[in-house]
Amino acid sequence: MNQLAPAEADVCVVGAGVVGLATAREMQARHPDATVVVLEGEPAVAGHQSGHSSGVIHAGIYYEPGSLKARLCVEGARRLYSYCEEHGIPAKRSGKVIVAASEDELPRLDELERRGRANGVPGLERIGPEELGEIEPHAAGLAALHSPATGVVDFAAVAAAMAAELETAGGRVVTGCTVRDLVARPSGVEIVHSLGRTRARRVAICAGPWADRLAVAAGADPDPRIVPFRGAYLRLRPERSGLVRSNIYPVPDPDLPFLGMHLTRTVTGEVLLGPTALFAGARDAYRLRRVVPRDLAESLAWPGTRRMMRRFWRTGMTEIAHAVSTRSFVAECRRYVPEIQPADVERSGHAGVRAQAIARDGSLVDDFVISETEGAVHVRNAPSPAATSCLSLAELVADRIDGQG
Ligand SMILES: Cc1cc2nc3c(=O)[nH]c(=O)nc-3n(C[C@H](O)[C@H](O)[C@H](O)COP(=O)(O)OP(=O)(O)OC[C@H]3O[C@@H](n4cnc5c(N)ncnc54)[C@H](O)[C@@H]3O)c2cc1C
Repeated sequence: MNQLAPAEADVCVVGAGVVGLATAREMQARHPDATVVVLEGEPAVAGHQSGHSSGVIHAGIYYEPGSLKARLCVEGARRLYSYCEEHGIPAKRSGKVIVAASEDELPRLDELERRGRANGVPGLERIGPEELGEIEPHAAGLAALHSPATGVVDFAAVAAAMAAELETAGGRVVTGCTVRDLVARPSGVEIVHSLGRTRARRVAICAGPWADRLAVAAGADPDPRIVPFRGAYLRLRPERSGLVRSNIYPVPDPDLPFLGMHLTRTVTGEVLLGPTALFAGARDAYRLRRVVPRDLAESLAWPGTRRMMRRFWRTGMTEIAHAVSTRSFVAECRRYVPEIQPADVERSGHAGVRAQAIARDGSLVDDFVISETEGAVHVRNAPSPAATSCLSLAELVADRIDGQG
């Protein structure tokens, strides 16, 4: 990695999360003689969502058949496992169960099963309480879906491997380089950044939490706007970590794009509980009280945020309770792992901030969104499972870049 940005490049990618790095890697592989450069504002790669996730390789169950998420997640998970194997990155196909804890969740579990089958999720099985007990002895529920293809990985390690691979292939990752403006020129785009200017023939913006700002700077519609949601985790005390073997998930609220608070045994063996989904005052709100006035003002001024808040105020109140009370947080997890007590958990110090696109009408944009301005392709919504899907999503972004000529 380096701190000198070139004055010219054939391809410039903004953002060194897994989506940006996978895109740069894909472009370098397609055009071996091209100069490919990644500009990243933070001092290291994976400094935001890619380094603060649950680390779950999703199998593709939840997503509307035919959506980008459905297609790219199933294909992306398969490719990611191969990538990890090739590059010696620890990844475990540890499996997961989605547990219906009450009668009213059963029709929603049916719908998840229908989607999972339509999406071609490998090995998906409907199981009853007895089989659930064999897979996760401390989980309880009326029925569950078992997905043996779900797994865990450290996405920061995936990002580091991609950055190294890009540099070996002749590309560059420039860190500490914050992009401030994009100006369309006849021969490409001039990128104005904290280290000067770079003129690039083709540009991809994979800026995660700041994707909308750079899109607007390049002349795009401000709809949708990124609104940050903080996700905090607790951890099971090591002596109680036997309560969870792999991944235990609830049946999610179908009106929200979040998967609900789950219990995940990470690739290093610790068991995380979470994440919460709390409206945040900053796009980098890794601390609960962090507020960036510009971020908060932009979120609150957006008509979609106010509409979303009117619709989901009850969910918002529950999330506040989870954020301030361990008891409330644990009570949610106890619905499907009844033995867990507040004394079994400790602070994890782990939190992430989801970049969720919200449309002007207040809807939470569910699918991945890619759009274009003159000379640039923008990834405007890449929430979960974009980390799982990064290799396949990158292929799609690269097709759009190449399609611009
Ligand atoms: C709490 C949480 C849990 C999650 N769990 C999972 C999971 O288990 N599995 C899964 O598949 N997905 C999960 N996700 C989603 C996943 O993390 C994201 O979808 C994925 O990491 C998005 O990658 P990205 O590269 O688009 O964004 P990011 O990783 O956020 O990267 C964007 C990069 O752009 C840089 N950048 C932004 N603006 C500028 C600028 N102006 N100049 C220069 N650089 C800039 C940022 O510094 C950042 O490094 C989770 C997300 C969160 C927050």
